[in-house]
Amino acid sequence: MKWMALSSQRAASRPPRAPALVLLLLWSLCAVTPAVAERERSRRARDSDSDTDAAQSQASKLRPLTETHRVAAGETLSEIAADYGISLADLLAHNPDINPDRIAVGQEIALGGDRRRIDYRVRDGETLTGIARRYEVSLAEVARWNPGLEPDRIRAGQTLLLYAKRPRSDSHSVGAPDRGHLEAGRPLPRHRGYEIRERGRAFGTDEAVRGIVSAFDHLAKRHPQAPKLRIHDLSLKKGGRMRDHRSHQSGRDADLAYFKRSCPAGVCGFGRFLPRELDAARTWTLLEYWLERDMLEAVFIDYRLQPALYREARSRGASRDELHRWFQYPSGRGHPVGIVRHFPKHADHMHVRFACHHTDAKCESFRPLLDRRREAAARAELKQ
Ligand SMILES: [Zn+2]
Repeated sequence: MKWMALSSQRAASRPPRAPALVLLLLWSLCAVTPAVAERERSRRARDSDSDTDAAQSQASKLRPLTETHRVAAGETLSEIAADYGISLADLLAHNPDINPDRIAVGQEIALGGDRRRIDYRVRDGETLTGIARRYEVSLAEVARWNPGLEPDRIRAGQTLLLYAKRPRSDSHSVGAPDRGHLEAGRPLPRHRGYEIRERGRAFGTDEAVRGIVSAFDHLAKRHPQAPKLRIHDLSLKKGGRMRDHRSHQSGRDADLAYFKRSCPAGVCGFGRFLPRELDAARTWTLLEYWLERDMLEAVFIDYRLQPALYREARSRGASRDELHRWFQYPSGRGHPVGIVRHFPKHADHMHVRFACHHTDAKCESFRPLLDRRREAAARAELKQ
């Protein structure tokens, strides 16, 4: 109030005089100097950057990202990088042998395809082979992106540069498996390796559905004679509460039968059986596919069925560290360790829960009710 009163007083005390007006007019006539025009252009460019439509039209001008680019006359490396919307640093990482100042017409430049950059921190007990397999890259690629790397001597805490393949993901797992929902859920497609009980109850995230399909593709190669496996529920199309389940709400849960040594009519269904009737080899082929790729948050399997799977995993070369990370067995059915865990009522089927995918920002892992109550209490205490 005080300031406004002062400034209006000042304005009233000094009315603009004629010479000042003339000067103002003259200035505005000469205003379009190159420097001003340049400022104006960059201001407009800034404004359009913040505009979604403009940003999108700019994005659509980018060339679709492919694996390689053949250099045309007059192109520079930084222009090529800009054309495809990737940074010059990333482009150079894909092409460590080229001299940026001396590229030749017709030369092939690796672009890396539709990949995302990951600065991966190596964890205890990990091998380069395991990491490469998880991100679907080759060892040769890892070596190219990380000059000077000694493949046999990686250590925990070391950072590796990776460009992982980025499959399309439109779906979203929202919230936790027992209080969440599914956006743009994808139906589990038909496959010769399995039989779906009810298709209207078999929707999942892109990752869960792709994970199931690719594991059964893998199974068909390794066990061409395998019978079909029954798959019961995943989630409803939009997720949320579902009859007969507490979880299965966010598109990441699936109930699958076990492979047994003999399955009537070529289909292994749900139904009780003795542990010695389990076909551990085929069942493990599925589980191993997901576990090796770090795709799972949890698998519920009756404790009595775990020893045969554990032995199968060990005989196929799982390391001590992997066995420890993957199995609750032999710690006992009450121990909260391992991805494969005992849960009551899982003697006739296994429950596979896929992990949250990095593109699903609102996805939450399952946490026991007790943990959630403790957290809520702690938060309430903080607020007081
Ligand atoms: Zn289930």
